[in-house]
Order: sequence, then C-alpha cells, then structure tokens
Amino acid sequence: MPMLTGVKHIILVLSGKGGVGKSTVSTQLALAMKEAGFKVGLLDVDLCGPSVPYLLQLEGKDVHQCAEGWVPVYADAEQRLAVMSIGFLLKDRDDSVVWRGPKKNAIIKQFLSDVYWQDIDFLIIDTPPGTSDEHITVMENLKDLPCDGALLVTTSQAVSVEDCMKELSFCKKANIPVLGVLENLSGFVCPVCSECTNIFSSGGGLSLANLTNVPFLGSLPIDPSLGACGEKGQSCITVNPSSPAAKVFQELVQKI
Ligand code: ADP
Repeated sequence: MPMLTGVKHIILVLSGKGGVGKSTVSTQLALAMKEAGFKVGLLDVDLCGPSVPYLLQLEGKDVHQCAEGWVPVYADAEQRLAVMSIGFLLKDRDDSVVWRGPKKNAIIKQFLSDVYWQDIDFLIIDTPPGTSDEHITVMENLKDLPCDGALLVTTSQAVSVEDCMKELSFCKKANIPVLGVLENLSGFVCPVCSECTNIFSSGGGLSLANLTNVPFLGSLPIDPSLGACGEKGQSCITVNPSSPAAKVFQELVQKI
C-alpha cells in the first residue's frame, strides 16, 4: 500500500443509517482539522451516494494522473485538504454506480493504493451507511496501517441507535478501536430564543456510549447554518464560531 505511507493517522466515519449526517460530520471534521493546521485527506468510499464533492463544492472537478498515481482534488489553494471520491470519476453527477461487490472492492482498493496523498496528518474515510462490501474491503486493506479507529454517527432515535450498535459490533469483529459516538440532529435550537426543542427522542447517543463503554463525542443540534455552510464547503468554525456545532468540532479535533 505505498500511497498511504505518508499518512500519519486514519479515521473511519461510520453510521448505521443513511441521512444521519455522516458525510456532514466527515467534511466538517476534515475542515476543522485543516483550520487547526493539519494536512488532511478525505476519502469518500460511499460509491452509491458520494456526497463529499457536493458538500465541498467540488463537483465537476477532475482527478488527474501523475507518475505516482491519482492526484486528489484539493479543496483549498494551500493544498491542505485533499479529496478523493468516485464522484470525480463519473461523467455526470446523476450517473448511478450499479456495481456488484468485486467491482466495488476493486475501486476501493485502487483508492487506497493509487491516490497520491503525499504526506498528510489525517486521512478521514467517509464510508457508506451500514456494514457492506465497501467496509470489509477498507478494513482488509487497512491492516498494518495507522488506523486510529472509527467515529460513529447516529441520531438519538432508537432505530438509528440500534443500527449504530451493529456498527459497534462490526468494529469489534474487525478489531477496529472505536473513537466514540457523535449524536447528530439532536434537537433544534431556536434562532430567536435559543431554546432547544428535542424533536426526536433525546439522549440516544449518550445512552449508547454509556451502555457500550465508548466515549461520547458530543451532540450536534439541527442547525440550518450548519446545513448551509456544510453544503458550501465552509467550516462551521469559521462561519459561525459561537455555534454549538463549532464547539463540537473544535473539541473533536482536540480529542482525536
Ligand atoms: P449522510 O452522509 O448520513 O447520508 P449527510 O451528511 O449527507 O448525511 O446529511 C444529509 C443532509 O442533512 C444534508 O443536506 C446536510 O446538510 C443536512 N444535515 C446534516 N446534519 C445537519 C445538522 N446538524 N443540522 C442541519 N442540517 C444537517
């Protein structure tokens, strides 16, 4: 795996369900780490729903070849945030990836072996929801590499928490340390009075973390400004530094 030799830390971002904010967390974490002065790579292995190019406003960018392999797309002029996604290889944004396991495995192996990340502090891997072929291929190919562990994203609802339990059991089976659970969409903070309304049942992520003895990494409320800056490729820390989300991501960078 020559291309990952310059990568100091690898972090997987997992979720049991889709739509819980996993890619938002991956991109905001990558942006927060970049803001903190690290060099970061973000690898999107959600082959059927690659949203990282959209979230970072990089749609339509092309991946180039150099003598060393694929040159990732850089999200910033200083080249501190490198991104790779199947989205850059599709001709059209609306093209669907209808591939069986072996083809998916082959492209993920290529992502892990042929991307010229150069020297980076963190490689964040945004995975598809659940535990599928993509996860198994990533795990198999990360053996003997500096994989720090997995960050699990859930909402507080029982149905998402239950699926998150499956992710925890997958990590145990695959021998991947769990960095912690991050709860998303956990209440709506009124922009006028700042009161937090728990739209769904609350505290599911914290209970899960306590029950399974893994660190609880914080709660992200539903925050229209997070959704908006998340879809403009901006860090919530720069756009809205006093927001609860900015605090969560700043602390996350410290904890990781
Ligand atoms: P997943 O990767 O789990 O499928 P995404 O990260 O793509 O989910 O998020 C789905 C949508 O929800 C996106 O439009 C994103 O901007 C929005 N979103 C995610 N988390 C929040 C949040 N805490 N507040 C507001 N919008 C959010």
